[in-house]
Amino acid sequence: MTSAGPAAAIAAAVRRGERSAVEAVEESLAAIAAGEELGAFNTVTAESALQRAHRIDRAVAAGEDPGCLAGVPVAVKDNICTRGVPTTCSSRILEGWRPPYDATVIRRLNAAGGIVVGKTNMDEFAMGSSTENSAFGPTRNPCDPARVPGGSSGGSAAAVAAGMSPLALGSDTGGSIRQPAALCGVVGMKPTYGRVSRYGLVAFASSLDQIGPIAATVADAALLYSAVAGHDPLDSTSIPEEVGDLSDALAGEAAGLRVGIVAELSGEDIDGDVSARVTAAAQSLASAGAEVGEVSVPAAVFGLSAYFLIAPAEASSNLARYDGVRYGLRVPAATAADMNAATRTAGFGAEVKRRIMLGTFALSAGYYDAYYGKAQKVRTLVLEDFAAAYERFDVLIAPTSPTVAFGFGERTADPLAMYLSDVCTVASNLAGHPAVSVPFGSGAGGLPVGVQVMAPALGEAAMFRAAAALERAMADRRRAGSASP
Ligand code: GLN
Repeated sequence: MTSAGPAAAIAAAVRRGERSAVEAVEESLAAIAAGEELGAFNTVTAESALQRAHRIDRAVAAGEDPGCLAGVPVAVKDNICTRGVPTTCSSRILEGWRPPYDATVIRRLNAAGGIVVGKTNMDEFAMGSSTENSAFGPTRNPCDPARVPGGSSGGSAAAVAAGMSPLALGSDTGGSIRQPAALCGVVGMKPTYGRVSRYGLVAFASSLDQIGPIAATVADAALLYSAVAGHDPLDSTSIPEEVGDLSDALAGEAAGLRVGIVAELSGEDIDGDVSARVTAAAQSLASAGAEVGEVSVPAAVFGLSAYFLIAPAEASSNLARYDGVRYGLRVPAATAADMNAATRTAGFGAEVKRRIMLGTFALSAGYYDAYYGKAQKVRTLVLEDFAAAYERFDVLIAPTSPTVAFGFGERTADPLAMYLSDVCTVASNLAGHPAVSVPFGSGAGGLPVGVQVMAPALGEAAMFRAAAALERAMADRRRAGSASP
């Protein structure tokens, strides 16, 4: 069995009445305050968190069971709606907006006894790979504050890595849970498209977006995933199938698991220190009894170009709703059209404007077939290439990010360089498949490297099995005294 993790430990102790939820929340709030300079949070919900904690402690004292997340502090990405609590998407355009309702994931989190301690910083509207595109300033990587935490869920990954909360929710449209988890040395998981309700997630690219957990261990990630996943009639793309019990998978038994190494994601696009860790991961799975081989998934790489047409196309449509009338910011002007333009000019940052223009262009008459239409065809090829690979393998492994955490400003001047950060992650979104990043030792400068495990749609159990096996292998090697096997 892999170690349960800090979130499971808190929940177990609170449920048994051995530890108070108030104490767990106070500890979290103190860590958030101590790490303020990291810029991980946009809003800290100290008062409501403590109130909820008191309620949970009273419930336990009355003999009730608050649920599997009893008293566990959870940090929530600031694009997930929380009733009455600002939900900014780290954008000026949503300034002052307080959602009138909770996202389904928040309702489930509360129902399981979890406690929201705050809303985390992110790239504006989840567009970016470094959290440098936040209107409120960047988040710093707790492993090295001179470097980015990755993005767009950089605040959520930093919060978990810095011990501010044992769990966090992020959103992943092209890698935004997995890549920051990799760069901060924690676990980040994107579920199968439709497994977790998107109701109350501010839409970026609706056919790609998915909410998922960030945690210190694989088991903790599975715990949060299980608490929030499942069918929701409020999301028309929600999957009706049962989520199923994952405890078997979390035993991390690799024997008999067929593991494919994605050939296209082990070449020159990937830094040597990162590739070396993926090779080490493959070796440790093989020595644990897995059948490991190489497999070609050509469209995994072409997927990046398709993603950067499909995601902006959907974003240009989704972001049309910020018109100065319905939400947040309004810059007054003589006519409605002028007000609309002035609000959007002042409210959106440079990257969001770039995406809206890219998307509008890709969808415009005369260019639609050449760009958006072609990108959709590539999306089909991604699905076909994955389907072929999964005939031979249960899971695929690859790097999560082609490099370790980079420095502030290194990629901001060149959007293409920033987009290339996503080369390993976007294919799973295009296919709607689950994928998880597991810390597997360190690379250049002693910075964390994440190994990505991908699985076919609804293949979360196999994915968690391989992830837990990797985590266990890493722990064994640490115990044996070698940090970098
Ligand atoms: N970095 C990618 C982008 O900029 C992915 C973002 C995400 O997953 N939200 O679009």
